[in-house]
Amino acid sequence: MRRLFAENILLADGWQQDKTLHINDGVIAKITSGKEPDAEQVEGTVIPGMVNCHSHAFQRGFAGFSEQGSESGDSFWTWRKIMYQFLDNISSEQAEIIAQQLYIEMLKAGYTRVAEFHYLHHQKSGDVHNQLAAMAKAIFNAAKVSGIGITMLPVMYRFSGFGPLASNDGQKRFINSVEQFNQLVSDCFDLAAQQNNANVGIAPHSLRAVDKASLVAAVSHVRSLDDKAPVHIHIAEQQKEVQDCVAHYGKRPVQWLLDNIELDQHWCLIHATHIDDSEIAGMIASKAITGICPTTEANLGDGIFSTTQFMADGGQVAIGSDSHISVSAIEELRLLEYSQRLIRQQRAILATVETKSVGQNLWQHTARAGAKSTNSNTGELAVGKQADLLVLDKQQTKLFANQNQFIIDSMIFASQQTPIKDVMVNGRWVIVDGQHKQQQKSAENFAKTLQALGNNR
Ligand SMILES: [Zn+2]
Repeated sequence: MRRLFAENILLADGWQQDKTLHINDGVIAKITSGKEPDAEQVEGTVIPGMVNCHSHAFQRGFAGFSEQGSESGDSFWTWRKIMYQFLDNISSEQAEIIAQQLYIEMLKAGYTRVAEFHYLHHQKSGDVHNQLAAMAKAIFNAAKVSGIGITMLPVMYRFSGFGPLASNDGQKRFINSVEQFNQLVSDCFDLAAQQNNANVGIAPHSLRAVDKASLVAAVSHVRSLDDKAPVHIHIAEQQKEVQDCVAHYGKRPVQWLLDNIELDQHWCLIHATHIDDSEIAGMIASKAITGICPTTEANLGDGIFSTTQFMADGGQVAIGSDSHISVSAIEELRLLEYSQRLIRQQRAILATVETKSVGQNLWQHTARAGAKSTNSNTGELAVGKQADLLVLDKQQTKLFANQNQFIIDSMIFASQQTPIKDVMVNGRWVIVDGQHKQQQKSAENFAKTLQALGNNR
């Protein structure tokens, strides 16, 4: 049993003062008032950790290396070409080094769990590794060493486009038959069982990369192993994807999904950028979550999701760092709100009548939605939930906010450096005073890996 005393803490039912958390086996077993004699006192305000609902870990290795203008014009599709070239050479050892660096950065940035949308499966040649899940194992290892909670989502990728069109050479490391994919998923369940704070779902890549029969078979297999297993899918990120879907299926992507697949609260539709009113209503009725990745969507020129309408109508939004052009929960939420302000020419939009603070509302809302999207016992601090929490630096919060109603607003909109000082995951401190035990070794290995892969020359 571990006891933590906080003078100021954001619990599931609101701000509270002078509380002791009794943590047993990583889970909050009891919350009592006042300081228990043997409790460790935390120095600063405590808030719940954030769930990162969408990550492609290897992409951290080329973040910032695709920002050069070209005469022919750049787009999501030209960016994808550069990304394919980069991933072509990554070994499983290098994938682990990149993911470890990334996950340490995530922890420092307030993410205590990551949903890894993992699609780099095979050897450089496209041949299957001796161990089918070798690359997934590298990612699990990175999570273990860093201490972040992980929801592994092996990606099903079968085709290069609607039709279905045969996959191309750049996709050779992603492709699996249905049988092989289901075996990979089973292998990931075995790997998750061997480490703490890990679970498994699946990620059919997109409607352009899977057909209906494969999608149904994959969902049915993973749900036979865990009836609440998360299912994530990229959807409607680009206008071209919507047009291709309409040309092939006669329906927009989200509408096709709603009409053909039974969605539920552990489905997470990543991006869903280009969505119409009836698709919004259908998604909310299905309880499916949307996974928005504001900095990546801005970086790739995707478009802006109708967040205001979706949330006002009762929809749930989780956030992800996706391509890792930014690794900061604070920055994702800031941009989520600011993009709505710029479109609407209004202020303080994503708040509610009950929670007037935009920052607090967004933090709590997205952490809870992220927890559902990963089927993890996280996202808020309450009895029965995992002790995944952040301590905000007392010296810093003193500079901008003395009252609770302003603390998270100030953190998201006005802090010039992260106030996140200590991070606990599943009852264990992983960041102490802004530092991670493995950070130096990890950074050195990461820099060497970038050099070997031809970036960072
Ligand atoms: Zn993605």
